This record gives sequence, structure tokens and C-alpha cells, in this order.
Amino acid sequence: MQDADVLIAGAGPTGLMLAGELALAGVDVALVERRASQALAGSRAGGLHSRTIEILDQRGIADRFLSEGQVVQVTGFASIRLDIGDFPTRHNYSLGLWQNHIERILAGWVDELAVPVHRGCDVTGFAQDDTGVDVELSDGRSLRAQYLVGCDGGRSLVRKAAGIEFPGSDPTISSLIAEVEMREKPQLGIRRDALGVHALGRVEYEIRNREVVFLDRGPIRVMVTERQLGATGEPSLDDLKEALVTVYGTDYGIHSPTWISRFTDMTRQAAAYRNGRVLLAGDAAHVHAPDGGQGLNTGVQDAVNLGWKLAQVVHGTSPDSLLDTYHAERHPVAARVLRNTMVQVALRRADDRTNALRETMADLLGMDEPRRRYAAMMSGLDIHYDLGEGHPLLGRRIPDLDLVTANGPLRVFSLLHDARPVLLNLGEHDLDIVPWADRVRPIEADYDGVWELPALGAVSAPTAVLIRPDGHVAWVGDGQLLGLTEALTTWFGPPAAG
Ligand SMILES: Cc1cc2nc3c(=O)[nH]c(=O)nc-3n(C[C@H](O)[C@H](O)[C@H](O)COP(=O)(O)OP(=O)(O)OC[C@H]3O[C@@H](n4cnc5c(N)ncnc54)[C@H](O)[C@@H]3O)c2cc1C
Repeated sequence: MQDADVLIAGAGPTGLMLAGELALAGVDVALVERRASQALAGSRAGGLHSRTIEILDQRGIADRFLSEGQVVQVTGFASIRLDIGDFPTRHNYSLGLWQNHIERILAGWVDELAVPVHRGCDVTGFAQDDTGVDVELSDGRSLRAQYLVGCDGGRSLVRKAAGIEFPGSDPTISSLIAEVEMREKPQLGIRRDALGVHALGRVEYEIRNREVVFLDRGPIRVMVTERQLGATGEPSLDDLKEALVTVYGTDYGIHSPTWISRFTDMTRQAAAYRNGRVLLAGDAAHVHAPDGGQGLNTGVQDAVNLGWKLAQVVHGTSPDSLLDTYHAERHPVAARVLRNTMVQVALRRADDRTNALRETMADLLGMDEPRRRYAAMMSGLDIHYDLGEGHPLLGRRIPDLDLVTANGPLRVFSLLHDARPVLLNLGEHDLDIVPWADRVRPIEADYDGVWELPALGAVSAPTAVLIRPDGHVAWVGDGQLLGLTEALTTWFGPPAAG
């Protein structure tokens, strides 16, 4: 007896996004979450980058986030601001919105999609066989599913129990992060010294003239680098006081912490994102320093790459080898994030030579071409899955073009709301996709504008494009239909008989 097609361990941002994707694709999915409610102690991640906002737009839910957050130019590298205001995307900015709000909004969406959440219990172990996975819960229950996905964070039990290696580097620095009250008025802003970077700010802020302006009320968010590495156990108020005195010469009379946590620059990545019927996504698959604000974004994007593939395998429309493309596509993306965070951590140091290096980087990134390339990387807009040689669009995100159809104007992203593949016919092709008609939606449209990609610039206009549910281009037509049947079969399963 099966309890669900797919079980997801962990209802953080990655698990929630994956649950939504699977539910949209008609998969019977359930979440298992340790926390008794979605409430998150502390604010954690600070927002969403452009590509993540686009992904939410592809599902028709970006406005829920945009209406609660603050639009801001904070794409950056090693604290060097990289403006993406001229990028060819509707969302040429980042969104300042704390993780607790991001999770609440995602959980609301998942709730609308009627995904059951087993709250207040841990996944404690599992055993997989040829047809499924038996998942043990801390309340003594055992649930059976076809697949288990570990979205259970950096200390992932699922990863460990699956025996998946987690190679990488040990931490070189350790920081405390907290939300507290202060009796004295602190000096808000960023401070650098020999220990590293420290920051004091208010949780509540506004964007005025494109700058963050802290409100004069509410808790203070503290981020302070510790003198020593290797502390074990939960950090205390005394640890925080000591770290503040070391850096600021005072603890500002801190009291009433709502949250104190420790993070490091430990940098590790799962050697494999899949072991049979068990997969990993988000922090369970990769951990790194928070520099550049990429962790949550990468996890949500993992989920959107995996969701439709897993749905097709569960429905039996694609062979289970499709799941191997998840590792092949997403492992290099996070490997690049790990590399760039290591560089950013190295540039955090405050000695004269590192300061000179950072100034040189700032000079270089002030030039247009490097700025565009790094901004495209940090915003996630340049992600390119290696689908072979061909048109520059192949493997990249489809831009959200304004199409004209027989039924009126249409945005490309609106075609992806239900997470189904689309074959966009922009030329005079006679497209026969009858054998895939149950899976792929054909759209006839005109588009006379420019095709422009972030960092790459203008590319030649295709005559047809096959778009995967994650918004990446699986095939490009250039007047001919060469390779379309193969692409349809590779990505959406063999043709239906009949
Ligand atoms: C200081 C700081 C700042 C950051 N800033 C940013 C930023 O600006 N932008 C950004 O993109 N990222 C940022 N991050 C990273 C971001 O917070 C994480 O990458 C993100 O939370 C990962 O999401 P996740 O769902 O993969 O994992 P998590 O958020 O860790 O969620 C895992 C979930 O699984 C649950 N769980 C764990 N074990 C089990 C189990 N055995 N059974 C059931 N449930 C379990 C947990 O309760 C949790 O809800 C920051 C992180 C820190 C520490």
C-alpha cells in the first residue's frame, strides 16, 4: 500500500516549492516537517534574486511576493553592487523579503494546492526497494512512497542515510546572527576589521532612493564575526555579548533575543543528487557562505528543475533515467555558487592586500562587460543547462516575451502557469505533435521584437521553441524541424501509440 507518490522531507523553501510543482503536475505528494508550524525563528535569508522572481512569475504567483517585499538593486559580488536595471527581464531587480515571509507565502500556495503536511515530526530513516521507499517518522509511523526527496537542510538526515558523500571545505570563519533589543543606540551599518565583516541593522526597513533605510523601531539584526572557530552547541546571549564587545567595544546593552544562530563558510556539495529512489535538493545538497544571498534561491530553482521530471517519471510518461538529468543540470549550478561564495569570503578579509584586491575587483566589475557577466551569474539569469550545441537559447531560460496570438496578446510566462511544456510556433511551421498532444501544449503566435538574453545580448530569432515546464528551452527551430521528435522524446517521453 502506498501513502503518496512522493514524500518530501522538510518544508523549508525548497521542499515547499517542490511540493507545489508536484501538486501542479497532478502528483500525490506529501511533506514531512519537523517544525510544528511554518513559523520561523529569526528572519534568515533576505530575499529573492531576479531569476527566482521570474520562476514564481512562471507559476503566476510572483505578485504575492512582490506585494510584500521591497524592490531593490542588491545584486552584488563581494559587497560590490551590480545594477541589473538594464537587463532584459521584467524583473530587473531583487526583492528584499525575509525568509519567514517567503516561507509563509509559499506555504499558502502549497495549502491551496491541497498538499498534506505531516507537521511536528522528523523523518528518522528509510529503506528503499525496487518499487518504492518506506519512510520512518519520529512519531512511530511508516509511510510508503515511490520516491523520497530530502529537502531537509544542510544537516540532511536523508543525505546521510542514503550514504551520499558531502565533500568540500571546512569552515574558516564563524559568525553569530541574532535578533535582539538594545538599551543603547547602536551604530547601524557594516563594519570591517581584522576579524571580518560585521553588520547591525533593523529587521524593518524601507527602500528610499534605491538605498536601504532602517526604520526607527523594532528589533536589531546583529551579524558579528567570532574571534574563534569551532564552537559547538547552541550560541548563547553571553557568546553574542562577548563577540560584540570584541568588535564594537560594547554590547549595547543587548537583551531579549528572539533568535541567536551561528553560521560558517563551510562549503560542501553532495557528490550525487540521487541514490535510486531518493533525491536531494536545496541545502541538503549544497551548503556555503551566505555571501551574495544565493542559498534559498538555488534551492527553489533546484525544486523547479526536479518537479516536472519527477512528475513525468511518477506518471510513467518518462523513464526514470530522466531523473539523472536533474543531477547533470543542477550539480554544476551549485558548484559555481560554492566557488563564487569562496571567492567572496576571501574578499571579506580586511588586511591591506585584500582591501587592494577588493578595490581592483570593484574597478573590474565597474566595466560594463564584467558587470553584465557577474550580475547575470549572481541573479541566476545566465543559467545554461548543457543540452548540446545549437542556438544560444538552447538550455537557457526563455525570455518573457509579449506574444500576439489569434486570441489577443499573451505573455510567454503565462503559458507556464500550469507547469506543462509548450511548443511555441512563431513561423510558418506545420507542427504535428499529435503523439505528444496529451503532454505538450502547442501555441501559434507572432513576435516581432528583439530576442535578447542577459549578458549575451541579442540572438537570432527562432521560428519555433520547445519550452520545458521550468522555463528552459529544450529545442529551437530555425526554419526547419530537425531534432524536434528527438527533443520531445528525450524530455517528454516516447510518442503515444495510436
Ligand atoms: C544568515 C543567513 C543569511 C542568508 N541569506 C540568504 C539570502 O539572502 N538569500 C538566499 O538565497 N539564501 C540565504 N541564506 C540561505 C538560506 O537560508 C538557505 O539556503 C535556505 O533556507 C535553504 O532552504 P531549504 O529549504 O533547502 O533548507 P532549510 O531552510 O534548512 O529547510 C529544511 C527544513 O527541513 C526541516 N527538517 C530538517 N530535518 C528534518 C527531518 N529529518 N525531518 C523532517 N523535517 C526536517 C527543517 O525544520 C526545515 O524546515 C542565508 C542563510 C543564512 C544562515
